[in-house]
Amino acid sequence: MPSETTGLRNVRTSLSAKTLVVTAVLIVAGFCAICASVLLEMRRGDEALARQTGANLATTINADIGRNLELYDLSLRAVVDGMQMPEIDNMSKAIRQLVLFDRAATAKHFGSIEVFDAAGNLTVDSATLDIQPRNVAGEEYFAVQRDNPDAGLFISKPMVHRGAYAVVLSRRISGSDGSFRGAVVGSIRFSYFHNLFDRLTLGPDDSLTVIRRDGVAIMRTPFDLDVIGRNLSNGPIVSRALVEDKGFFVGSGSIDPVERLYVWQDNRLPLITIVGRSLKDIYGRWEQEAIKICLLLAALASLVAIVTVFLVREMNRRAAAEEKLALLAVTDGLTGLKNRRYFDSAMEREWQRSLRQRTPLALLMIDADHFKAYNDLHGHQAGDQVLVAIATCIAASARRAGDCGARYGGEEFAMLLPGMTAEDAERFAERIRLDVQALPSKGDAITVSIGVASVIPTANLSTADFIGAADIVLYEAKAMGRNRTCIADLSAKLHLVA
Ligand code: GH3
Ligand code: MG
Ligand code: MG
Repeated sequence: MPSETTGLRNVRTSLSAKTLVVTAVLIVAGFCAICASVLLEMRRGDEALARQTGANLATTINADIGRNLELYDLSLRAVVDGMQMPEIDNMSKAIRQLVLFDRAATAKHFGSIEVFDAAGNLTVDSATLDIQPRNVAGEEYFAVQRDNPDAGLFISKPMVHRGAYAVVLSRRISGSDGSFRGAVVGSIRFSYFHNLFDRLTLGPDDSLTVIRRDGVAIMRTPFDLDVIGRNLSNGPIVSRALVEDKGFFVGSGSIDPVERLYVWQDNRLPLITIVGRSLKDIYGRWEQEAIKICLLLAALASLVAIVTVFLVREMNRRAAAEEKLALLAVTDGLTGLKNRRYFDSAMEREWQRSLRQRTPLALLMIDADHFKAYNDLHGHQAGDQVLVAIATCIAASARRAGDCGARYGGEEFAMLLPGMTAEDAERFAERIRLDVQALPSKGDAITVSIGVASVIPTANLSTADFIGAADIVLYEAKAMGRNRTCIADLSAKLHLVA
């Protein structure tokens, strides 16, 4: 069944082309999914590493600030204790100096420790025995201690203290009855923080912020005097850092629009350090890798697309060539009708179908009359043209999809007409015969003789019987003088449908 085979082949070709396209798309999608998952994993890894290093840095800075604060606070406490000794007032200034102050008071980034009486007047200064009168009753670090017996260690906002930017620390001196007897005051200069931060390796967009427990910025790098002393507790980062023991925040804060990963750690200390790592720095290398991988993927996808298009085209081209070959294999080269091979298979197919469906099947055997003489008279080429003309009449007569006109051999043609009774087949044959007779001719009219048979196939009949019956009446038509149609009378042997 060549036509069905061809259709099947087309379906198979388009199916395999579709399969190829779907496979290519799936491969590319699979690669994309794998790369996306690897890239995401890398990104997560980079973020986790940045969080870890940020936390480590925050811990290190906390430890340094915490240790220095503690040491300095111990000195302040020692002064408070000393000032509460009853003998202290009876000592000479020099002895008192030795009793009250240890070496911490002279450390590099710490200011001198001073003692103020209840009225805020300077009474003792670790830096000198020669005291210049000074009153700090109006200063917050003094007032806090005076007004609140439980203030503990007070850390001031950053301020200019004795000629340098510093945070001032103060502790209360209470009498045995709890009354306010003055305050001990010291300071940590900004140079301490500068020195500390300078020792760390930070990216150009990274930040370090040290805040007081109420959210006031004590120090920041990159250094900005406008930020120092500002209350940041309403910002998205500090508001969380004040309540969460440790944590992180991704985004931009209230100081500048740079997007960073902010990390803080262990906020139980009086000062909290927030480390900001620029997202550009964290993901810079990742972004480069991602771009490289995306470009490679795009190149791979393009390559797969090109190869797929090429293969699909090649498959279609091959399918078309195969289709053409299949058509050629069943076509008669001279007349363009179906050839004998196709006719034989069509006969078998239609015979079986008619047998199953109990429907008539008609066959016309058509033979050119005196064709040898025509050839002899007009030449083989003219004979060929006549054969083509007869074939055109036969092809033009076909109406239904199952009608099959074929060149049976030499100057003989056959036409298979499924579902047609003998009566209709005779009329059909007559039309062909008259069409041929009307063809233009070089001499006498071109004529054909036609043998017609129509049966409802039965199991005891064969296609050979059927063809033989049509052949016999064809020769009867020849014998009766040609250019006529004869119908097979097979009633004795066959079910005649007429
Ligand atoms: P009849 O009326 O009894 O059929 O006589 P006829 O001459 O047609 O029959 P015959 O069998 O004696 O001769 C058939 C001729 O058909 C012989 C051959 O030269 C010619 N023929 C067969 N095939 C072709 C072909 O492809 N082209 C041409 N030009 N002639 C062909
Ligand atoms: Mg003939
Ligand atoms: Mg013949």
